[in-house]
Amino acid sequence: MTETGAQTKKAQKLQAPKGVPDYLPPDSVRFVATKRALVEAAELAGYQPAELPVFEDTALYVRGVGESTDIVGKEMYTFPDQGGRSLTLRPEWTAGVVRAVVEHGLDRGQLPVKLWYAGPCFRYERPQSGRYRQFQQMGVEAIGVDDPALDAEVVAVADEGLRRLGLGGYRLEINSLGDETCRPEYRERLLSFLRGLDLDEATRQRAERNPLRVLDDKRPEVKAQLVGAPLLVDCLSDSAKEHFETVLAHLRGLGVEYTLSPKLVRGLDYYTKTTFEFVHPGLGAQSAIGGGGHYDGLVADLGGQQLPGVGFSIGLERTMLALAAEDIKDDGAGAVPVFGVALGSAAKERMTRLAGELRKADIGVDLAYGDRAMKAAMRAADRSGARFVLILGETELASEHAQLKDMRSGEQSAVPLPDVVAELARRIAAEH
Ligand code: AMP
Repeated sequence: MTETGAQTKKAQKLQAPKGVPDYLPPDSVRFVATKRALVEAAELAGYQPAELPVFEDTALYVRGVGESTDIVGKEMYTFPDQGGRSLTLRPEWTAGVVRAVVEHGLDRGQLPVKLWYAGPCFRYERPQSGRYRQFQQMGVEAIGVDDPALDAEVVAVADEGLRRLGLGGYRLEINSLGDETCRPEYRERLLSFLRGLDLDEATRQRAERNPLRVLDDKRPEVKAQLVGAPLLVDCLSDSAKEHFETVLAHLRGLGVEYTLSPKLVRGLDYYTKTTFEFVHPGLGAQSAIGGGGHYDGLVADLGGQQLPGVGFSIGLERTMLALAAEDIKDDGAGAVPVFGVALGSAAKERMTRLAGELRKADIGVDLAYGDRAMKAAMRAADRSGARFVLILGETELASEHAQLKDMRSGEQSAVPLPDVVAELARRIAAEH
């Protein structure tokens, strides 16, 4: 190919990797607002932010998430770095949060340590609606105190976050997975029950490795056989039972509705005692918006003290799908209240100054850029969704006024330039 040929040939468009969503306006505006609402609920309960690495030593997840999980078995993005270390892109947050808490000695300070986080996770899964290879989670961890009231708080924070978004069509399912005193005995009982079933080889092997996981099998032919399976709730030790009942009592006190779900186990190995999931019937096969639970061994397994923890994580993409399923809209979110249209270079300079003054006064303003004619600039103003449009032409500039148009009522009036900021502040305040 000649050099000119190379220059004129149109470059091929590139695509994001398979199963990796992009968020652009207006979805991205919604996305950020969704995250903010969930974070607000956590901050109202005293959780503080944790900003952690997107990749960790592979060993952290192998140890922290559990070798028998799908995540570690087949879904991790693992790669060697230039120094030959094995690293893994974060498939979930809890292991990393606990690692950081232990590494920085927070487990030796004021307890519980209460943290929130939000950011991307990566799992090599088969992409479909509600299931992606990069997805975002918001969640919390409360580490260091064994108190059923804290389990209930964590559940209530998630519930409150979802409510703040206007969601109401989901169900909170809750279960207890028991503790070290009752879980081993239950495991044996379940295993001997599962050995008597007609299961395929892979499921049989899964049962031997982690029988609880089989309880969560969604295939109808397996579900049908699980009808008479022993349930953990019937085998709980006295202390695990009391813990669970106290969690439920606190939830009732907090006004959080729940459904007991005796077969709920969730896909991570570290949970003990309380475990829960928020399920939305409008989401199809991927119906879990979020979930979490209590863990007793994880902090010690990752080199820390013998301390419990409890946490949840909510998938932001699925929360967005739930908002769509409930037809919850947020019209105009993200739009700035003011749009400035200036005609001619002197007016443009003055408008730039005005925009700076408005922004300093916390009034959002966008401007018409490029040398557009009045009509095109007004179309841009209309599309911006701004409530007020400021118009500055040569005539207005000469008389030191701007035209201020209320896009909702269509009314327009001349405002002296020195009064523009105060006038807009007054009108915007009157809106609220
Ligand atoms: P987990 O960490 O597996 O307990 O998942 C917690 C939440 O993260 C789920 O309820 C989903 O909302 C979300 N989630 C997990 N995996 C995916 C995925 N592959 N794509 C989108 N969201 C996911």
